[in-house]
Amino acid sequence: MLSKNSACYALRFTCVLAAVLILTLAGRAQIQPIRVIAFGAHPDDCDLGAGGLAAKYAAHGDKVKFVSITNGDAGHQSMRAEELAKRRRSEAQEAGRRIGIEYEVLDSHDGKLLPTLDVREHVIREIRQWKADIVIAPRPNDYHPDHRYTGVLVQDASYMVIVPDLVTDTPPLKHNPVFLYYSDRFTRPQPFRADIVVSIDDVFEKKINMLDAHVSQFYEWLPWTEGQFEQVPKDPAERKKWLASGPLASRKLQQEWRQALERRYGTQAAGVQHAEAFEITEYGRQPSEEEIRKLFPFFPDR
Ligand SMILES: [Zn+2]
Repeated sequence: MLSKNSACYALRFTCVLAAVLILTLAGRAQIQPIRVIAFGAHPDDCDLGAGGLAAKYAAHGDKVKFVSITNGDAGHQSMRAEELAKRRRSEAQEAGRRIGIEYEVLDSHDGKLLPTLDVREHVIREIRQWKADIVIAPRPNDYHPDHRYTGVLVQDASYMVIVPDLVTDTPPLKHNPVFLYYSDRFTRPQPFRADIVVSIDDVFEKKINMLDAHVSQFYEWLPWTEGQFEQVPKDPAERKKWLASGPLASRKLQQEWRQALERRYGTQAAGVQHAEAFEITEYGRQPSEEEIRKLFPFFPDR
C-alpha cells in the first residue's frame, strides 16, 4: 500500500507528465506543415500561376510539390521532342530547387493530353501520396487543350481522393483537400473569381529566379512565338532583368483582385504590387474564413 506522501508524489508526477504530453502535442499541431500540391500541363505552368505562393510556403517551412502532367516536348522552335523533354525535366528540377520545393514531370506528350482514366488515377495517387491540404490546378476553360484537360483531370479527382474503393494501391485521404484554381483571363462560361489573393512582393525575386531556370521557355520558345526572340538579351543577368519587367512574369495585381486583397490585408493592401490570386472550387472542401487564415498564414492579423 502506498503512503500518503508517495501517493501525492505519484499524482504530481502524473499531472506533470500529462502537462508535458499536452504541450508537446499542441506544439506538434502548431508546427505541422501545410501540404500543397499544384498541377500544371507543362513544366512552367505551376511556376507562373503559383511560384510566388510556393516560395512563401517553402520559406514558412511548409511542403509544396509541383507536378507537370506533360513533359513539354512540343514547346520549342528547333529542338527535337526527346531532347527537349530531357532539357525541360532538368529545368523544372532546377526551378524547384531554387525555391525549395519538389518538382515532378510526368511522361504524357505535350499537346496530346487527354483526360483518360489512367491519367486521372495517377492524379489521385499524387494527391493522396502528398497528403495534400491544398490542391491547385487550372480551370477547365482555356485556349490550350493540355491546360483544359489538366483542369478536368484534377476536377475529376477532387472527390475520388477520399473514396477507398478507388485506386486501392494508395490509401485514401481522410479529409477532402481544398481545391483551388489558378487565375486566368478567360470569361466564358464565367470569369475567374478571386477568392484568395496573396501578395508576393516579398518573394518576387525568388519567383523570377524560378522562372529563369526555364531557359528553353522564357528566353527561347515563348519570345519566338511572339516574334521577340531577337530582343532577348544574351547576358544571363540582363535577360533575367528583361524577364522580370515582362508582362508574363510580373503578374501585376489585377483591379478585380483588389476587393479580396483588401479583405485580408486591410490598409496594407494599398502598397501591394505583385500578387497571385486563386479561386476556391466547388468540388473540394469549402474552408471557413478561420481555416483560410490557417491554410494561408501570410495575411496580417485582423
Ligand atoms: Zn502551359
